[in-house]
Amino acid sequence: MASKQTFDAIVVGGGPAGTAAALTMARGGLKTILIDRGRFVGAKNFFGGVMYTHALADVLPEYWERKPPFERPVTEQGYWMLSPDSAVRIMHKSEHYKQEPAEAYTVLRAHFDPWFAEQAAAAGALVITKTVVTHVLQDAKGRVIGVRTDRPDGDVFAPIVIIAEGVNNLLTQKLGLIKNDLPPRFVALAVKEYISLSAKDINARFGLSGHNEGAAIDIFGDATLGLPGTAFLYTDAGGISIGVGMLLEEFVYHKLKPYEVLARFKHHPAIRHYLEGGRPLEYGAHLIPEMGYDRMPKLASAGVMVVGDAAGMVDAVHREGTNLAMTAGKTAGTTAIAAHRANNFSAGFLKKYRKSLEASFVLKDMKQYRRMTDFLDSSPHVLGTYANFLNDAALRYFTAHGMPKRDMEKQIVGLLQERRSFAGVAQDMFKLLRAMRG
Ligand SMILES: Cc1cc2nc3c(=O)[nH]c(=O)nc-3n(C[C@H](O)[C@H](O)[C@H](O)COP(=O)(O)OP(=O)(O)OC[C@H]3O[C@@H](n4cnc5c(N)ncnc54)[C@H](O)[C@@H]3O)c2cc1C
Repeated sequence: MASKQTFDAIVVGGGPAGTAAALTMARGGLKTILIDRGRFVGAKNFFGGVMYTHALADVLPEYWERKPPFERPVTEQGYWMLSPDSAVRIMHKSEHYKQEPAEAYTVLRAHFDPWFAEQAAAAGALVITKTVVTHVLQDAKGRVIGVRTDRPDGDVFAPIVIIAEGVNNLLTQKLGLIKNDLPPRFVALAVKEYISLSAKDINARFGLSGHNEGAAIDIFGDATLGLPGTAFLYTDAGGISIGVGMLLEEFVYHKLKPYEVLARFKHHPAIRHYLEGGRPLEYGAHLIPEMGYDRMPKLASAGVMVVGDAAGMVDAVHREGTNLAMTAGKTAGTTAIAAHRANNFSAGFLKKYRKSLEASFVLKDMKQYRRMTDFLDSSPHVLGTYANFLNDAALRYFTAHGMPKRDMEKQIVGLLQERRSFAGVAQDMFKLLRAMRG
């Protein structure tokens, strides 16, 4: 990269947010550069992961003809609540999920992200890898005018910089758009393994008829030792993605090691059968921002916008992140195009970005669940208590004891009371409803 290179727009980070922004701007006629630190775009990126096609279609309407590297469509999904030795499962299967293209697919990011970046390059964006952006450059008035990279003579200039650096938002912090590093209360740590398994075994174990069916299961309760967090089990084409995530604070407070929590989960009697004979091929750990709507960074300032995980755009309740990231990337890209047309890159003009996001599902959903992390933080017993209760209650309900059913029902109420008083249950339900309603 030669020095003093000038573009219309610079994007830092080639995850779903950054690539969506770069693709949008390149298609809008802006001379765009996308800079990523990976050996190739997406080299170190990973997630659960279920990707939602509504957001992809919005950025790249012809995505289906471009043959995206999806693993399997998600045709069955739901929740499992684990106690130490059993599971209550709520699954949903529908013919509706079998439409092609489907609404959601499992994806491996090391395959998807480079493909997505190729689409941005095909639209005209210059994609540069193996390059770390170390600083955001500002003029004397504090307006962002470009970035410094770790390449020799690696300064790049543009009137618009879109920061899509992911959860480790060092540049966002350096710019003062967010005050501190994320405290452990507001960031989750997830560990994931990709386990290679034959498609035949996957289909047999998950009850799938072929590669055109797939399952996505989110799991609570004993999976995270009853602590606030979730685990997941997703089917890929020739393997299984399995992982657990909990707030960082819980790992620290309970002196738990993430890989031990995952190993314990993998040996759970309701889980281990799915993995038998599989070969672990990949292992990784990644943070998930859970600061919520009220603690997001400032989303725009003169010459700069922040998108995706860097801005905390995650909906942990519905395990959504990539779609929020893509929609935010597209919105920032569209705002950048409008800024060029108006030749106005001021903080005032770029406020349009946040305004558009407030009108979309991205900030509406984040606003709705703004209290969720605080709820889990103040009621850490909730997932463990009710998962264990549901399993014990199901055992009573589904077993014939030769006792009148009225007595069985009383026993189930007793099982709940052993764990939580009526007042406690009412309080939990009230707090949960409040957290769900915003
Ligand atoms: C275990 C796990 C499970 C998840 N499951 C799901 C799921 O099932 N569905 C879902 O939709 N979401 C899921 N998410 C969330 C989702 O992965 C994120 O919300 C999404 O990846 C955010 O995209 P992004 O582009 O903002 O950031 P990222 O995907 O993190 O991309 C950031 C990019 O920036 C680059 N970068 C960073 N700093 C620099 C720098 N200084 N210079 C150059 N390049 C830089 C990185 O290399 C990276 O490519 C999950 C996350 C985790 C961790």
